[in-house]
Amino acid sequence: MPKATLNQLATNPSCMDDYDPNAMSVQQARAFIQQFLTPVIETEALPIRESLGRMLAKDVVSPNNVPNYNNSAMDGFAFKHSDGIKMIKIIGTAFAGRPFDGEVKASECVKIMTGAVIPKGTDTIVMQEKAVNKGEYINILEVPAAGSNVRFAGEDLKSGDTVLSKGHQMQAADLGLLASLGVADVTVHRQLKVAFFSTGDELVSVGKPLEQGQIYDSNRYTIYGMLSQLNVSITDLGVVPDQPELLEAALLKAAGEHDVVLTSGGVSVGEADYMKSLLSKHGEVLFWKINMKPGRPLAYGKVGNAHYFGLPGNPVSTMVTFYQFVQQAVLALMGNTVKPIPVFKVECTASIKKAKGRTEFQRGILFEESGVWKVKPLANQGSGILSSMSLANCFIVLDEFVGHCEAGTTVNIQIFEGLI
Ligand code: AMP
Ligand code: MG
Repeated sequence: MPKATLNQLATNPSCMDDYDPNAMSVQQARAFIQQFLTPVIETEALPIRESLGRMLAKDVVSPNNVPNYNNSAMDGFAFKHSDGIKMIKIIGTAFAGRPFDGEVKASECVKIMTGAVIPKGTDTIVMQEKAVNKGEYINILEVPAAGSNVRFAGEDLKSGDTVLSKGHQMQAADLGLLASLGVADVTVHRQLKVAFFSTGDELVSVGKPLEQGQIYDSNRYTIYGMLSQLNVSITDLGVVPDQPELLEAALLKAAGEHDVVLTSGGVSVGEADYMKSLLSKHGEVLFWKINMKPGRPLAYGKVGNAHYFGLPGNPVSTMVTFYQFVQQAVLALMGNTVKPIPVFKVECTASIKKAKGRTEFQRGILFEESGVWKVKPLANQGSGILSSMSLANCFIVLDEFVGHCEAGTTVNIQIFEGLI
């Protein structure tokens, strides 16, 4: 797909095939967003523990061989294989961290512990269990192949090898891996700054009583929770009422000070939905609507240098659009190499009514029955039924070409574990 600026796309949609800002497919929308996701440029060197969750801005190259020296993989006896002798004399012991200093000659061996340096003059380890200890001597019952039970220097990693690549997200294993190389710091992209606010006259924050016609704002809590998993700096700008001046001020302030701005509500065509006109005034908008359920009204664009996502107000739609679009975009801006969300195929235990032409993300429960994993859609799939997200453990993804599904059909699922 050719690179284009948002402006070109918004004003000259013909530069993209099938561009319709009011009817984008999920795949198209993902691909369109991806074009504008350049990782934050600034980097910083961090002690490895503090780098957890961050994206590497440079490859990490091994300064050493791992392991650093030939060592024993077993507790046993080190001897020279070419001796071909079964009865040999024990002349000392090698411990991990306390090597045997002398040289081992023909018909001699050294008692050796796992991790100890292979003594000079030896090349093979016989396991303790395969030798009979007779005072100063051992009798090798079964002579192992030459080089057996030796971990060779550089067997895991060689000095100069790329251990972790630019764009990799630092995980627990990586901290240990880098520590095993003696690497104390890594260069990562700086933390991404993300701000969000809810829009709506009906919204009240928790801790205040509700009056007639008001509801508690839940989206700021789910958005906070979802962002917290991503190791970004989070600014909660509260609830902004449906008043154009207040929305304008909040949007401009958020965009001026952050890399990403998320709002919820106010992006459909209701009378109090002001975000659309505000964005035409201050930003560039790529699309407004996606052929999906839930989450049809979804805006993506830029306000100044900030990436803007206008999420739909319905609580389930907010979460679905976050996971399907925002999460990967945020990871890419953090410097991560973009990877598709893993999808698995399982049998669906109930029928699902669905029209072709849009992608649906139903909430389901993945369960095991006689060793086979199956999925059951939750009964209430309304976009305001937030309990469905708490009860479910996966999305059932029915793409735009799929129609009504009978019970027993194989469907695609995205597992929440790891995704959320
Ligand atoms: P909107 O997208 O603003 O038209 O809102 C769609 C629906 O979602 C309405 O029923 C709103 O009351 C509800 N809604 C919007 N924002 C929130 C929020 N922050 N928390 C809970 N519900 C919301
Ligand atoms: Mg609203």
